[in-house]
Amino acid sequence: MKVYDKLIFELSRPGRKGYELPQNRFEKNALKDLPADLLRKEEPELPEVSELDVVRHFTNLSSKNFGVDTGFYPLGSCTMKYNPKINEEVAAMPEFTALHPLQPADSAQGALELYYNLQKALSNIAGLAEFTLNPYAGAHGELTGLMVMRQYHISRGDEKRRKVIVPDSAHGTNPASAMVAGLEVVEVKSKPNGSIDVEDLKPLLDENVAGIMMTNPNTLGMFETEIMEIAKLVHEAGGLLYYDGANLNPMLGKVRPGDMGFDIMHINLHKTFSTPHGGGGPGSGPVGVAAHLVDLLPNPRVKKDADGKFYVESGEKSLGSISSFLGNFGVMMKAYAYILSLGKENIKNVGPMATLNANYIKESLKDDYLLPIEGACKHEFVFDGLKDKSTGVTTLNVAKRLLDYGFHAPTIYFPLLFHESMMIEPTETESKETLDEFIEVMHKVAKEAKEDPEMVKSAPHTTLISHPDETTAAKKPILSYRQLKANS
Ligand SMILES: *Cc1c(COP(=O)(O)O)cnc(C)c1O
Repeated sequence: MKVYDKLIFELSRPGRKGYELPQNRFEKNALKDLPADLLRKEEPELPEVSELDVVRHFTNLSSKNFGVDTGFYPLGSCTMKYNPKINEEVAAMPEFTALHPLQPADSAQGALELYYNLQKALSNIAGLAEFTLNPYAGAHGELTGLMVMRQYHISRGDEKRRKVIVPDSAHGTNPASAMVAGLEVVEVKSKPNGSIDVEDLKPLLDENVAGIMMTNPNTLGMFETEIMEIAKLVHEAGGLLYYDGANLNPMLGKVRPGDMGFDIMHINLHKTFSTPHGGGGPGSGPVGVAAHLVDLLPNPRVKKDADGKFYVESGEKSLGSISSFLGNFGVMMKAYAYILSLGKENIKNVGPMATLNANYIKESLKDDYLLPIEGACKHEFVFDGLKDKSTGVTTLNVAKRLLDYGFHAPTIYFPLLFHESMMIEPTETESKETLDEFIEVMHKVAKEAKEDPEMVKSAPHTTLISHPDETTAAKKPILSYRQLKANS
C-alpha cells in the first residue's frame, strides 16, 4: 500500500459544514470598496466537512506524531527533557499575552520585571555579568555572541582579529555562525579521548585570533579537563572564549562557565530550561557576557532604576539590534517558571541527575554497543554503532528499529568523529524504570541484529512512513494533502 492510500483523508462532501458565521457581520456593500483585483474570482477550494470529522481528523493525525509527552526521546545534543505543563499555564496568562510591545514601560512593569529577573537568574547560573534574552535561538545566540566578540576587537582598534578557533567535534552551528558573522573558521583537533588537543591549539594562537568557541562538556559528553589552561592560553594571545551552552544541563548548579574563564556564552532556553523545541518551538538563545563586554550587548536592554522601576534602554556602544523588541517573550515566561519551580536548591540536582542517567545507560549497554571513549561522561555519550559489525546492521537500522518499540531514535551520525555515531542523552527528567525499558530494548535490538539482521534493516515495521528519502523530505517536503495526491 502506498503512503497516500494509508493517509486517505478525502472527507469532503458537497454541502456539508460544521460552522455558523454571524449574520450581517459586514455591511452589505462593504466589498464594493475593495479593488477588483483583490477580489476572489472563484470559490475557495475548502473541504466541506462536519465538526466531528474535523475533530477526529486532527486528533488522529496528532497521535501519529512522536513527542516528548508520548515517549522517551534520547536525542543527544538536543536535551529533549520534559516540558512541565505549569510553564504553559504561566505563558498563557492574559496579563502577559495581551501586552503590546509598544505600550509604555510604565504599564508593563510585570513583564519587564520578569525579563530582568530571568536575565539575573541566568547571570547567576552562568557566572557572567549580564545577559540579553533577545536572540531567538541557539544559533542566533551564537551569531550575537560572535558579533560581541568582533565588536570588542574593533572597539580596541584591533580589527585584524578575525580568526575563530572551533574544535572538530563542534556542533555544526558553531562554524556556520562564525562564517555568518564575517569571521574566519580554523579547526582545532580533538585527542583520541575527545578533548581539545592543547598542543594542536598552541600554534593557532597568534595576533589574528578573535577567540575560540567551545562546548564543555564537549559534544562527546566529556568534560574538557584542561579548560583553565586553554582559557589562559587564549586570553594571553588576546582572544576571547565563547561557550556554547545550548545544553547546560550537566553543569546546572555545579560549574559555571564564567568561572572556567569564558567571556561570552549562549544558553538554549528550549533545551536546558525545559521550554519546547523542534516543531513545538519557538526558541530563545540568551547571550551572557563578562563585565568588560556588557556595553556591547544588543539593544534594547531592560534595566532597573534606583526606585525599583523597570525601563527599556538602548545603549550607545551596543552592537545594535538583533531581534524585534525583546525577543520571544513567551519562551522566557516558561523558562522563568521552570527556574522558580525548581528553586535554588533543586536546580543543583539537575546536573548530577542528568549525568547519572547518562552514565547508567552507557555502562548498561557497552557490552553490545561500541564505546569509543571510556570513562565517566556528563549528560550524554556516543556509541560507535553496534559492537558486532559482522551483521551489517548500521546505526540507522538500530535507530529505525527503536521506533517499532515506541522509542524515539538517538541522534545519529553526529558527531562526525566516528562512522556510526549514536549519541544518547536521557536527561534528568526520566525515571529509572524508563531508562531500564530503553536499555532492555537496546539489548533486544542488538540480539535481533545477530539473529535476524534483515528484519532489523527493514525496520520500522509499525510506522505509517518508514523510509522517506531524507534529502527530498528535508529539501522538498510534501506539506499538503493535495501535493501528496499529486505526487502519488
Ligand atoms: C542545539 C544546539 C545548538 C543550536 O541551537 P538552535 O536553537 O537549534 O539554533 C548549538 N549548539 C549545540 C551544542 C546544540 O546542541
